Order: sequence, then C-alpha cells, then structure tokens
Amino acid sequence: MKNMLEKVVGEIYDELLARDPGYCRCEQCRTDVLSKALNQARPKYSGGGPKGEAIAGFELQQDATRAALAVVLLDAMRRVAGSPRHAPSKEEKSQ
Ligand SMILES: [Zn+2]
Repeated sequence: MKNMLEKVVGEIYDELLARDPGYCRCEQCRTDVLSKALNQARPKYSGGGPKGEAIAGFELQQDATRAALAVVLLDAMRRVAGSPRHAPSKEEKSQ
C-alpha cells in the first residue's frame, strides 16, 4: 500500500471499531467506510509527487490530523450503517 493516507485511515478505522463492538465487521462495510472516508480526506493530501507524500506523512503523525480523520471516518461509518450494502439481517438470524 503506497498511500500513507490509506494506511493511517485503516489504522484509525480499526481503533474506532475496537471501541464500537456493535459495528458491522464485514469486508463490504469496511471497504465502503474506507472508500467514503478516503474520498473526503484525499483532496487535502492530493499534492502528489514525493514532496506531497512526505508532507502528508508528517502531518498524518500529528494528533490533530488523526482526530480530524477520525471525525471523517465516524461520519462515513454512520452513513454506511444507515444504508449498508452487505447481505441484510445476518446478525439477526444468528442470535
Ligand atoms: Zn457489513
């Protein structure tokens, strides 16, 4: 994975999931949440080229940046949970 933003957003998503035991863990929801969050976050980091990547890499280690990405992710998680594309009511059947 060459994009640092994708890596960091994935890490933060895992942290948020750990704090939200009720949230769907399926691959479809993960893909949807991450792609929505990345689409929102990416314009900030679209500098491109090695210089842009280096700046993004530095910024991505700052707490304020990670907090901002967590907000974007939580919003994406809410939207995906509101209209999930995974197979419906799997959890309901298993309980
Ligand atoms: Zn799901």
